[in-house]
Amino acid sequence: MRLYRLRNVTPSRYSWDLRTEHQWLLPGLHCPTCDETWSGIGEAYPAVDLSELPEHGKFKARVEEDFGEFTRLRNLVRPLVPEGVPLEPGTTFGALRGRGRGNFPPLVFPTPWTLLIRGEALDALQATGLRGLRGCKTDLRLRDSNPPELLELKLEPRGLLHPDCLPRNLPPPCATCGELTFSLPTEPILEARSIPTDRDLFRLASYQTVIVGTERLVETIQRLGLDEVEVRELPTR
Ligand SMILES: [Zn+2]
Repeated sequence: MRLYRLRNVTPSRYSWDLRTEHQWLLPGLHCPTCDETWSGIGEAYPAVDLSELPEHGKFKARVEEDFGEFTRLRNLVRPLVPEGVPLEPGTTFGALRGRGRGNFPPLVFPTPWTLLIRGEALDALQATGLRGLRGCKTDLRLRDSNPPELLELKLEPRGLLHPDCLPRNLPPPCATCGELTFSLPTEPILEARSIPTDRDLFRLASYQTVIVGTERLVETIQRLGLDEVEVRELPTR
């Protein structure tokens, strides 16, 4: 099965504007071991509602200096997310909030690592038997007389970059916080054995701003004429 990176088309052929943010964030972290202050980008659980958590007020854009406290907060949300996911500093939770207006394509990237879909387009895709497609409710105020229903597609972190495409001499990740910064290789290769076989859409676990779709998904999007997504094949090894 071939795999493709899905990206926004720039400039968009549609005229729209959307400013968004997720409701809650695992804080950024100042690590006591490597001394980096950092936050990942991309990891998101839009269907996970933290409002029942007594300490949900601590899940906001800020830096946690105490690694023990960071770990405690992360453990509070661990039972609410799929087993084994990274939960990096900066992971977001809850419905995407925001404001916007315009003429939206069937597929909308408010950021390159967030994918929204119009309700009728999701129905059409799901009717074809594609696997693992779930639309999560959003909280968007769209200033139009007949605004579309925009849902956020669930994108769980799965799959890894192949070591062959990574920079040579890459140091190991920090033993405490897992921090490891590198640029996405210009020719990314995916590690075949890490690729999930139970879904047609996911986020790359080792580079979470990368959204990956299967050949089946891409063919279906193109057959149904669902704008507006640019695809590039990601070889596997
Ligand atoms: Zn560290």
